[in-house]
Amino acid sequence: MDQRRIRYPTAPLTNTKKLEHAMSAKLLDGKGISKEIQKETKVKVEQFIADHGESPVLAAVLVGDDPASQVYVRNKERACARAGIESQLHRLPATSTTEDILAKVVELNEDSQVNGILVQLPLPDQADSRVILDAIDPQKDVDAFHPHNVGLISQGRPQFLPCTPHGIVQMLKRCGIETTGKSVCVIGRSDIVGKPMAMMLGQKDSDLGPEMANATVTLCHSRTQNLASITQQADILIAAIGRPNFVTPDMIKPGAVVVDVGINRTEQGLVGDVDFDSGKEVAGFITPVPGGVGPLTVTMLLENTLMAAIIQIKSIA
Ligand code: NDP
Repeated sequence: MDQRRIRYPTAPLTNTKKLEHAMSAKLLDGKGISKEIQKETKVKVEQFIADHGESPVLAAVLVGDDPASQVYVRNKERACARAGIESQLHRLPATSTTEDILAKVVELNEDSQVNGILVQLPLPDQADSRVILDAIDPQKDVDAFHPHNVGLISQGRPQFLPCTPHGIVQMLKRCGIETTGKSVCVIGRSDIVGKPMAMMLGQKDSDLGPEMANATVTLCHSRTQNLASITQQADILIAAIGRPNFVTPDMIKPGAVVVDVGINRTEQGLVGDVDFDSGKEVAGFITPVPGGVGPLTVTMLLENTLMAAIIQIKSIA
């Protein structure tokens, strides 16, 4: 098999309901779908262990003691354990320099026991994230941030897909929502979410089939003029901005699919980028926060770690 054309899990449609538009939006249950995918990943990991006598290994590098980062890394460790993936945590002090972190990345690149490497972001100000992420072996780059992997995604032949957009496509597929021919608006152009999301949905094909690509994508950002006039046209609206309740009902096309990537800590607790309570009265489908896109991101990291292990086994075979 061509290693560059990895097949990601196909939808087990037996366990999912095809969602239909109603007056008040249907919830897109990212949490439930994550559990479904994690069960499938566990089975594949068991097969991998049976075939190769070892578990896939994910190494996380955590620099400093940012509370949110600690929570994210702990969640990833727990998810790994559930799926039968071994996880390692490499802690470095908050004072670490670019060179200190690079030395750890090089050590993990050279460690044949380690299949996937993730450097938890954000890094302390003195560390150059770009230099560090560029140093990760592209075959171990389970976050798909390395320029090699970004280039492959842009050419429509991904080795890994970045976890959040990857999870969103999985969720849409499993809810019976196709993207082909649809008008998609992505708000936010980060390298982690918005940009790869737009690239993936605008391709001719995807690993889940052409029906999960071929969208007409508009990528919006802070300099976009008349944002609402663009979002109102979108059959699928994906918000990855980092501003609480930014998307209001007047910005949503009636019946649209609304995917809220935002995770904002407010006095009211965690809220998304979409005003959920009023947005759900206009949208056809909507993701909650929490319990929407977040769990899918962790889940797709597991899937990418397994893929990394498979790629590495093949490359030495
Ligand atoms: P970034 O801060 O890197 O990017 C935010 C984007 O939003 C930028 O492109 C910015 O535009 C755009 N933006 C900001 N203000 C406006 C505005 N007024 N109008 C239009 N666009 C605007 O964020 P991330 O992509 O990393 O994260 C976005 C959100 O998603 C955050 O809340 C984050 O916590 C969350 N997140 C959730 C994940 C999950 O698993 N659910 C995973 C990753 C992130 P410009 O480029 O012009 O500055």
